[in-house]
Amino acid sequence: MKPLYFDHGATTPLRREVHQAMIQCMEETFANPGSLHDEGTQAADQVEHARKQMASAIGASSREILFTGSGTEANNLAILGAARKARRRGRHIITTQVEHPSVLKPCHQLEEEGFRVTYLPVDEMGMISLQDLDEALTPETILVSVMAANNEVGTLMPIHEIADRLRKRRILFHTDAVQYFGKHPFDVSRLGVDLLTLSGHKINGPKGIGALYLRKGIRLDPLLFGGGQERGLRPGTQNVPGIAGLGVAARLAAEEATDTERHLIELRNLLWNRISREIPGVRLNGHPEHRLSSNLNLSFDRVEGQAILLELNRSGISVSSGSACSAGKHAPSHVLTAMGRHPEEAYQSLRITLGKENGEEDIHTLVERLKEVLGYLRSLIRG
Ligand code: PLP
Repeated sequence: MKPLYFDHGATTPLRREVHQAMIQCMEETFANPGSLHDEGTQAADQVEHARKQMASAIGASSREILFTGSGTEANNLAILGAARKARRRGRHIITTQVEHPSVLKPCHQLEEEGFRVTYLPVDEMGMISLQDLDEALTPETILVSVMAANNEVGTLMPIHEIADRLRKRRILFHTDAVQYFGKHPFDVSRLGVDLLTLSGHKINGPKGIGALYLRKGIRLDPLLFGGGQERGLRPGTQNVPGIAGLGVAARLAAEEATDTERHLIELRNLLWNRISREIPGVRLNGHPEHRLSSNLNLSFDRVEGQAILLELNRSGISVSSGSACSAGKHAPSHVLTAMGRHPEEAYQSLRITLGKENGEEDIHTLVERLKEVLGYLRSLIRG
């Protein structure tokens, strides 16, 4: 059986055009983009070309894009850098209980440094309440960080509404759009955020490369100290092939976003319609409508997600039983727990994340195999 990959929330395959751009860059552009000779200038031109591609893919200007070593690094730079820079104006930060660890842990670090952090709760669908946000805001609040889309359950947060509230108050707004970008049409100038995180490997680009959108005029403290690369905010010789690959991946993701969204929603609806009709004892986690086009997070009664994952894996089908970062350590997901799920229910969750290369046939194969696997695992419990 051909392997079937449904774990695009963890990472995506490198697309051919990105691969070609990276190979060409590695073969032809080896010089340091900081060098003044022609070879160096050629490398610097590659970086600037990719910066333009990244900027126009999200509706920003080139000056507003910083390349980083990952989405994790961009989140750290946004949160630590913005909070430390603005500390004289106040020491209160607001985020949510369901953020990725690369947002939560910098917030914990800021608490060590004397900041106060409010972690907004979510409802049973993984959604924050705007009223909770309003109530949490104080004159001391300098930064709010709310993810655009949750990586585990796919719930989309009300980014426009949050931005509207914060704009009048001189409070910086950061969003982690690592999972959102590429699966829905996107324009940062209309979102109204000040800082926004992106990652290469979630959009069929390379791993180990990310970008931070930094709205014109927003200032940060750097996390690293060294040369003047990336305006001194991310010193270190740039990863030119990674950046070239990210530029191409971002351009294609933006060009295809409308078609990708439609394709993913069709597949996701087909998958959910079949599962909900044909498999008893299943619940959808996350918001039924405001959710990522690619994400279906399900809990199956009486069976652990990890057991299903391992059985599907035996037939060459890849899914996840949590986020990639928390899979491997057996603790209930902090997202499902924040949504009020009992730890036992959290262990039952299975995350299926679709990608552009999946087709209808793949969905039918997955459902058939899931039915067999659940029948088998549930029979073991009965026996
Ligand atoms: N933010 C979210 C929502 C993610 O899902 C991930 C990766 O899983 C990251 C940030 C981190 O990105 P990277 O793997 O590029 O460090």
